[in-house]
Amino acid sequence: MTTPLPVPRPSANGWRLEHSYARLPEVLHVAWKATPVQEPRLVVFNKPLAAALGLDADALAQPENAGLFAGNNPPEGAAPLAQAYAGHQFGGFTVLGDGRALLLGEQITPAGTRFDIQLKGSGPTPFSRGGDGRAALGPMLREYVISEAMHALRIPTTRSLAVTATGEPVFRKETLPGAVLTRVAASHIRVGTFEWVAARRDAQALEALTLHTLQRHYPERAASDTPALELLRAVLEAQASLIARWMLAGFVHGVMNTDNMALSGETIDYGPCAFLDRYHPDTTFSSIDRNGRYAFANQPAVAQWNLARLAESLLPLIDTDETRAVDAATALIHEFPARYEHHHRAGLRAKLGLFHEDSGDHQLAQSLLDWMTLTGADHTNTFRALSSEQAFREPPFADPVFHEWHARWKARLALQSQSATDSLLHMQAHNPVVIPRNHLVEEALTAASDHADLAPLERLLAAIANPFDHSALPPAPFLEPAPPEAPPYRTFCGT
Ligand code: AMP
Ligand code: MG
Repeated sequence: MTTPLPVPRPSANGWRLEHSYARLPEVLHVAWKATPVQEPRLVVFNKPLAAALGLDADALAQPENAGLFAGNNPPEGAAPLAQAYAGHQFGGFTVLGDGRALLLGEQITPAGTRFDIQLKGSGPTPFSRGGDGRAALGPMLREYVISEAMHALRIPTTRSLAVTATGEPVFRKETLPGAVLTRVAASHIRVGTFEWVAARRDAQALEALTLHTLQRHYPERAASDTPALELLRAVLEAQASLIARWMLAGFVHGVMNTDNMALSGETIDYGPCAFLDRYHPDTTFSSIDRNGRYAFANQPAVAQWNLARLAESLLPLIDTDETRAVDAATALIHEFPARYEHHHRAGLRAKLGLFHEDSGDHQLAQSLLDWMTLTGADHTNTFRALSSEQAFREPPFADPVFHEWHARWKARLALQSQSATDSLLHMQAHNPVVIPRNHLVEEALTAASDHADLAPLERLLAAIANPFDHSALPPAPFLEPAPPEAPPYRTFCGT
């Protein structure tokens, strides 16, 4: 977004907080303060991210600054607020809002980019609905690990600046150590933010929010005569591209409620998410997703469903004539599957080392996915194996069905003008060698949460930092799925 003048001067440790969201109509936010915690202690701090934000990473990593990231003493220029929003959760409409999070402000980086700085787990707010406003250490570390892994995988995502232990217990099914996550996002504006304003039938707030979001995330479209339609088109394109990237990396978000879909096109809210090991379209990990609404292969359709809720919210701005508004919005929403397919097919071609589109490519890619589904081959490792020059004599590749496919693929590669080396390099740039393996994430979180042992977490973070470096593989345990005798992986909407 173009930064409105005057830009605040940097204050101590590089904070340069601005507050464009706070200037939106009052129905969208409530000024609120964090509840101080007893014994703040930094558990992880993301120095490279701090530096990119223009912050003094070394100074902020000092123990005496932990209180800043726990909400005890907010940085200079902060004006904390809780954001109002609603959302469709598993299909049902609910009024939500930040029940345990506060936006401190928007950090303006030295390059002039604007990022929300949010504390998650900072105490109750007027939106808490009976919750304690707190978060447990395990789930906050989980968000840290997975969001940083997504970033390393070049998938748009919110980032994690710090996890700070509170020194206080939180009471869930068991007593757990409490923590606050410092989240960095292009913004926290969600489909549910629009649903909230639309439900209130507040036309003025709806228009202000629409223009703010367009200006902030899609400034090149902000001059449009049809801003609501333009915003919908931009978000649809961003989400089509985002969901394609999830599918290409084997990511299952797990709780794609409309309040967990950001208008910026970043992945947001890491709860019960996980990565596929064995490839299967029907995979769900979340214990609460009993009907597979948010199963791996359903993600594109759910994204389209969520975008339809955004479109409904925008109807009053699209056209004063309701029929014309519905027709225009519907026509756009119907474009989603083709836009998604466009991104997904392009991504699959890159994963197979193909530079240009040929009519048989989709079928070729689909045959591989079908073979993986039947054999339960590991998603990441299958593509990693294809990106190396190996003989495919070991399981699961020692299979005539695979070899028949492999011959077809090689024949297709041979038709390209690019050399075999070029396509290998192309594949290596699109197929990660490593993802955060579910069982290793779990092990690292348990060690940190139950035994205050951060070593496994630090090893995991180091292993997933450069997933496209095929020449320096992380140690073997980071490359393998859980042993076959391990029970199916389940995730919980841990809070
Ligand atoms: P999340 O699981 O963080 O996406 O949260 C979904 C909704 O529940 C949001 O409105 C949160 O603010 C609210 N929520 C989750 N956990 C708590 C908690 N411990 N206290 C208050 N509100 C919460
Ligand atoms: Mg959420």
